[in-house]
Amino acid sequence: MNLILLGAPGAGKGTQAKQLEEAFHIVQLSTGDMLRAEVASGSDIGKQAGEIINAGKLVPDALIVSMIDKRIDQEDCRNGFILDGFPRTVPQAEALDGLLSAKDLTLDHVLVIETDDEALVERITGRFTCAKCGAGYHEKFRRPKVDGVCDQCGGTEFTRRADDNEETVRTRLDAYHKQTMPIISYYSERGLTRTVDGMAPIDEVTRQLKEVIAG
Ligand code: AMP
Repeated sequence: MNLILLGAPGAGKGTQAKQLEEAFHIVQLSTGDMLRAEVASGSDIGKQAGEIINAGKLVPDALIVSMIDKRIDQEDCRNGFILDGFPRTVPQAEALDGLLSAKDLTLDHVLVIETDDEALVERITGRFTCAKCGAGYHEKFRRPKVDGVCDQCGGTEFTRRADDNEETVRTRLDAYHKQTMPIISYYSERGLTRTVDGMAPIDEVTRQLKEVIAG
């Protein structure tokens, strides 16, 4: 099963992708995570992308499309994948169509997580991640059971994304409205979109997603 998760920054795409990975035995492909890994490794792609990411803008379509093109060919994608953070522009959606048909693959659902912008600023500026296993937390909405200790792996170091500050978040939300939202109608016209309420509690959003996937 091949899925796209669409939603504004902070809508919960990453959190929900992890739930869907487990439930359907498919792999999360997050272009944001891939780019952050490139930045951390100091690669050429990372050097090109770092400043753009920190400014909250979108990196060039061609770079992202070739990254995804290669990633989908890897063995762990055989059973299917969840695209998280891709496509983000109409040209990316068109390029995805081309590369999927070249690989003889199809999209099953485009899942849209709907949210309110103002709530997202609070969600994003409060979030942090376990440096060891990547588990996601939030200062207000999802604290570790024991302060300073990761629930999943016992790690005690946490990181925050450099682009999770209020100013950058507003630029990212603007990019979502202007550049990403048009792809919702691109997929609706083909009857692929399924919408869930991203303002509901995390477990309820997961339940809704599983329900719409089951049809
Ligand atoms: P995310 O982790 O999905 O919020 O992505 C973080 C940042 O990576 C974005 O603000 C963009 O700068 C960049 N990025 C991630 N995915 C894409 C994409 N599909 N197209 C362009 N830029 C992207």
